[in-house]
Amino acid sequence: MERDAALELWGRSVERHNLRYRTMLSDGDSTAFNALAAAQPHGPTRPITKLECTNHLPKRMGTALRKASKDGRFDGRGEGRLTKEKCQRLQNYFRSAILNNLEDQRAMEQAIWATFFHVTSTDEDPHHDRCPAGPASWCFFQRARAEGQPPPPHAGHHGTALSREVSHAVLPIYRRMTNPILLKRAAHGKTQNSNESLHNVMWGHCPKEVFVGKDRVEAATAEAVAKFNRGNFALAQVMDHMRLPITELTHSALAKKDKVRVQKAERATDVAAVAARRARCAGRQRQLEQREDQKAERATDVAAVAARRARCAGRQRQLEQREDQEAERATDVAAVAARRARCAGRQRQLEQREDQEAERATDVAAVAARRARCAGRQRQLEQREDQKAERATDVAAVAARRARCAGRQRQLEQREDQKAERATDVAAVAARRARCAGRQRQLEQREDQEGEVYGAGLMAYGGWRGISTNIIRRRPGTIRGHTQTLFSAMCLHNV
Ligand SMILES: [Zn+2]
Repeated sequence: MERDAALELWGRSVERHNLRYRTMLSDGDSTAFNALAAAQPHGPTRPITKLECTNHLPKRMGTALRKASKDGRFDGRGEGRLTKEKCQRLQNYFRSAILNNLEDQRAMEQAIWATFFHVTSTDEDPHHDRCPAGPASWCFFQRARAEGQPPPPHAGHHGTALSREVSHAVLPIYRRMTNPILLKRAAHGKTQNSNESLHNVMWGHCPKEVFVGKDRVEAATAEAVAKFNRGNFALAQVMDHMRLPITELTHSALAKKDKVRVQKAERATDVAAVAARRARCAGRQRQLEQREDQKAERATDVAAVAARRARCAGRQRQLEQREDQEAERATDVAAVAARRARCAGRQRQLEQREDQEAERATDVAAVAARRARCAGRQRQLEQREDQKAERATDVAAVAARRARCAGRQRQLEQREDQKAERATDVAAVAARRARCAGRQRQLEQREDQEGEVYGAGLMAYGGWRGISTNIIRRRPGTIRGHTQTLFSAMCLHNV
């Protein structure tokens, strides 16, 4: 797919934009580049040069090393093994060697080999001649030499030592990654970062994990290009084109969004801030190492160990004493007798209470009183039911109720008559219509006002996503066409 897209883009660039692409910056063995090299879209006299991304080249180194480390003979713990951490370090060394020697391809190659020979050196067989000389060198061996000291032992100074076996295994990787053609392609020091950040804006509008139609992808691309080149302010143009009112609020919302975006980016790339962050990380790392050293020291400190053991023994003694006391208490005869006496007392109390309850239940006088109270309540209920029945059959009361019903019926009929009259009254109809028209006008005015606020609110809360989903969905047809033409126009002008 990439291959086809590349052929299409290269093939039409002159015709469409009067532009010839001379270089292609990509990562790895690109089928797209091979296809272009074969197709020669700008003719045989104008070949296309391939450039390597300086972010991806070190990653390729790391991938190759990690693949080698999966061989069971090389990974695992121990001096000279190729662990994951070492692969990462070697990758970082490789990256530094490239970035520090961008202009000089020969020096770049030297620097990469210097890291290889440095990490494969031993006390018996040191190879630090390629390492940078001087007291500020990253190589401990060269630093000692610059200070006139005897070379320190490799063990303890050599964070990334590789055994002889491992160094034989990674040598072909270093040979491949120092290929002069490859390094020449990286000498520009450029990355695909700007591409990737444009893609990031694009996928922000249209997530690549979700399938969407062609229209949506095109709109997202146009939005991303406009936003990438001109910031959120490009939206003002889109709104203007759609005759959406742009208010003060819209302007300030757009300006604020852009300001925040720029501030974020500046903070992320601010050299001083980055240096400070790195310093903090390094500081924390040092603290951790110091703490681990202290722990290790404490653990092996004989006096401390003895003290710890003494404290342990003391605690053990206390526990034993407590257990002895408990056992004594349990078997103490006097204590047992007292406990039993207390138990018996509580049992007696319970029995007395049960006796009292039984007596109350069978007390004849109390039972009679309860029955009398029940009978009284029964009588009251019966009297009330009798009164209700009397009221229901009372003729006078029934007549009064009917009179009230008839009165209400008459009122209803009168009201219906009046309604019918009003409905046919021509003057009344005209008045109603006038009132309806007034309301309609009010509604329209309100919608206009809302439209104005809507544009601003949309920007403040919905932003770009608001444009592409809300407006287009609300007023399909007209605005959809406008938006797409405008977005396409912006794309053409900005690319
Ligand atoms: Zn060295």
